[in-house]
Amino acid sequence: MAQLIIRGGTVVTAEGRRRADVAVDGGRISAIEDALPASADAREVDAGGLLVLPGVVDVHTHTRVASDAEPDRFFQDSVAAAHGGTTTFLSFNNPGTGIGGSGSLATDLREWRGLTEGDAAIDYGVSLVVTAEHSSPVEELHALIDSGVPTFKAFMVYDFGVSDAVLLGMLGAAARGGGMLEVHCENRTMLEANTARLLAEGNVAPRFHAASRPPPVEAEATHRAIRLAEAADAPLYVVHLSSAEALEQVRWGRSRGLPVFAETCPHYLALDESKYELVDEEAARYVISPPLRAPADRDALWDGLADSSLALVATDHVPDRVAVEKQSWRESFDRISNGGPGIETLLAVVYNEGVVRGRITIERMVDVLSTTPARLFGLNSKGAIEVGRDADLVLFDPTERRTLRAAELHHTSDYSPYEGMDLAGWVRSVLVRGEFVIRESHFVGRRGFGQFQGRRLTWA
Ligand code: MN
Ligand code: MN
Repeated sequence: MAQLIIRGGTVVTAEGRRRADVAVDGGRISAIEDALPASADAREVDAGGLLVLPGVVDVHTHTRVASDAEPDRFFQDSVAAAHGGTTTFLSFNNPGTGIGGSGSLATDLREWRGLTEGDAAIDYGVSLVVTAEHSSPVEELHALIDSGVPTFKAFMVYDFGVSDAVLLGMLGAAARGGGMLEVHCENRTMLEANTARLLAEGNVAPRFHAASRPPPVEAEATHRAIRLAEAADAPLYVVHLSSAEALEQVRWGRSRGLPVFAETCPHYLALDESKYELVDEEAARYVISPPLRAPADRDALWDGLADSSLALVATDHVPDRVAVEKQSWRESFDRISNGGPGIETLLAVVYNEGVVRGRITIERMVDVLSTTPARLFGLNSKGAIEVGRDADLVLFDPTERRTLRAAELHHTSDYSPYEGMDLAGWVRSVLVRGEFVIRESHFVGRRGFGQFQGRRLTWA
């Protein structure tokens, strides 16, 4: 007995596409058939002319939890994600933003759960950040993995980065418990030397951010992380891979049969380093780490997605604002808050830049935005249009054209890196577990509808 039938759309999976009807019952997909019979009990949704895509799973966001001053920011970014076709997102408990620092991962988790409970409009989860302040992260890992948080992030740079020794221990401990470490790969020594030299030369403007962390900074650390994971007999997840040189290292690791998975981000696929030639206040909007790269890097990343060297695309969404966090550009490039918004524009940008331009097929897009992120991060009811899975669905109009304007977005940032970009294709409606969250581009969901996702890496 279906509660809902989505009729006549083109259903896309990682394997293929076909015109089909999709039935939903109890929040799950109950049938996918060429022509389902009408049912008196089922509501009908006409998807003629639309693509029916699995909801996007964004595994890399820095959504901020609610604060007294900004009680809606977690909720609002979840609404923004929904507008863009994302039905599940994973966040980090972000060091340096007022939570964390307890010295215990279990305490960090309790705190983050408490601060986000009942707040999200779509399904969500967390990956915990491991910092040098955690006194016994290795001992804590297995209980956390068993409780449904199997992914952790560690940094090789920043104040809260960890040593190679800690990294090696964490990689091994995560692997033995059935978890996975996500690593921000940059070489601390090279980065700090470059930064000191540039500042000493008086080169303090935002554009020098890119000069402080050129591709070798990323490639060396990527290689080292792969070697450490190999030594620990562990899988490795490389976050936000941005350059051809780092991609070369991932290909090298994978060619040795190592379980190395790498993510890239929409900004590396759609933009390039020419943004740093803009006037300082504009250039500061693109201060992200790693920085935007050369057009040849961008093209290499598309090749990497097409040939499966890269596993998936996620946003690295940081809801920084030009009017607030980015104002630090006035001091020096190394003081600028790193990051930019993207939680709402992931599908639109990857569809336009990837599928419309013929760089990847739509099936591959579904794979890198939904199916692989769900599988790799243990969201085992998500990521595909398949009987029995959650009815997380996007009705996407490939014929609608939009010029992207930050003023029309819903995120908690005040700009978009893609301002003015002409896009083909737009999200019409979005369902999470069979319920409309976005209908004809309007938010019709509610705060707290999103469920925390306990996860298990069935492949690990
Ligand atoms: Mn990072
Ligand atoms: Mn990040």
